[in-house]
Amino acid sequence: MKTVKCADLGGPSTCTVEIPGATVEEMGKNCQEHVMEEIEKGDSDHQDAVEAMQSLAPEEQQEMYAKYMQVCEEALKG
Ligand SMILES: [Zn+2]
Repeated sequence: MKTVKCADLGGPSTCTVEIPGATVEEMGKNCQEHVMEEIEKGDSDHQDAVEAMQSLAPEEQQEMYAKYMQVCEEALKG
C-alpha cells in the first residue's frame, strides 16, 4: 500500500506519520482520521494545522485540497 506523509497533506511539518491508502479518497479519509485522533489526544500542532486551514478563504482551501490530491496521486503512481 502506498503512503503519504501527514505533513505533505497539510499536517504539521513535524509530523512524519505515513498515511496509507489505495486511492486518493482513502488517503484523504485516513489522513482526516489521523488528524482527528491526534487532536483528541491533545496534540496542539495538529489543532493549529486544522485551524490554519479553516482560516483560509474558500477558494484558497480549494487550492490546498487540489494540491493535496495531487500529492496523493503522485504517491499512488510512484
Ligand atoms: Zn499527523
